Amino acid sequence: MKNVKPKSPKQSSKSNAATVRLVPARQRSAYSAAEVEEIFRRFSVQRPEPRGELEHVNPFTLVVAVALSAQATDAGVNKATRALFAVADTPQKMLALGEEKLRDYIKTIGLYRNKAKNVIALSEKLIADFGGEVPRTREELVTLPGVGRKTANVVLSMAFGQPTIAVDTHIFRIANRIRLAPGRTPDEVEAHLSRVIPEAYLYHAHHWLILHGRYVCKARRPECERCVIADLCKFPEKTCDIPAPLVELPPQVVPVAG
Ligand code: SF4
Repeated sequence: MKNVKPKSPKQSSKSNAATVRLVPARQRSAYSAAEVEEIFRRFSVQRPEPRGELEHVNPFTLVVAVALSAQATDAGVNKATRALFAVADTPQKMLALGEEKLRDYIKTIGLYRNKAKNVIALSEKLIADFGGEVPRTREELVTLPGVGRKTANVVLSMAFGQPTIAVDTHIFRIANRIRLAPGRTPDEVEAHLSRVIPEAYLYHAHHWLILHGRYVCKARRPECERCVIADLCKFPEKTCDIPAPLVELPPQVVPVAG
């Protein structure tokens, strides 16, 4: 993966100052450009190479895994797809498997009937319109059944290395909770985060924020005493303002559903 040099806070503050004038007050970040820079610098020390936790073996299986993950946990999806992808890792093999057998593989995942329909339909479309390959643009990806903007962004980032922010439930919560990039909808948060995050950190920002939300800044009770940005955080209800020691975390272990 490409090593990029972070922009200086001075450079970032110039572009942010230009943006702030166009953004309504309620949607402004509560952080200065230097503070945002520092937040992502710390995330980058903790997890120099963050990665997504959805298992896949190629762009096609990634599209399927992300489509299956709506309203489900990554661990739950991984448990089902391990066996599925062993027999169907291309659109052609997925069609050969058929909707009924596909349902059997994924029946532990919520909304599996509808998701099975979509996976079969997207496999058909990939073969009919894209020569069996996963397309590399958002415009094309969202034409696939069951693939919305968020799924497309995850695929662009994880399969094709493009710096996109796919706003999931964790990112949406953190952006609004700590007022890093407030927005009423995932699209607003995505646009806002894309403006405030220094370019050099944009590629990994998606995973840093998801992992921070999944393991520290949790929905019900954020674990502020374990948080490396506790001193910078502007969430009025945070329970600690002493940052946790800034050390690189052990390699990510992808959780396995029981
Ligand atoms: S201090 Fe608490 S609320 Fe703020 S980012 Fe950290 S975990 Fe979340």
